[in-house]
Amino acid sequence: MPAARDPVTAYVALGANLGDAPAAVRGAMQALHDAPGTRVSARSSLYRTAPIDAGGPDYVNAVVQLSTRLPAPGLLDLLQKIERAAGRERPYHHAPRTLDLDLLLYGDARIDSPRLTVPHPRMGGRAFVLRPLAEIDASLVAPEALAAVAEQRIERMR
Ligand code: ADP
Ligand code: MG
Repeated sequence: MPAARDPVTAYVALGANLGDAPAAVRGAMQALHDAPGTRVSARSSLYRTAPIDAGGPDYVNAVVQLSTRLPAPGLLDLLQKIERAAGRERPYHHAPRTLDLDLLLYGDARIDSPRLTVPHPRMGGRAFVLRPLAEIDASLVAPEALAAVAEQRIERMR
């Protein structure tokens, strides 16, 4: 067990495009909330989005805000454990996936290690990250960044 520490506010992007994708995303939100030392403090709507750099069916995407006492590498371990529990396989890069969990922000930390880059290097150009992130906290996303991804197909699910 990691030593107790003050909670950090982190943001995680969720995506799925195989099987029952909405159920996979909702299940991952619940698993994060139930994990030791971690709770979900805000969640975006679910969004249906076109695949980018990837094949297969449309994605379901969302973002959650976490309050977590896990250190960043421990949080990545948790994300990967939840991905594996959802049956994720990695046959090739950008393959369709039952569940993808990416750590977007961890407090104001900047991390550049072999297995973890934070802020997530590809969050900027992606409507499926920026729109749900802005729904949770508009101050995290510049209006110009949203304008730059306005052409990408994304719709909020009801
Ligand atoms: P992608 O999310 O880019 O489609 P994967 O989910 O297969 O691809 O992730 C590949 C690797 O990215 C993981 O093994 C993980 O170690 C690394 N990685 C680096 N930074 C991050 C981050 N911020 N969040 C999640 N994974 C990350
Ligand atoms: Mg990933």
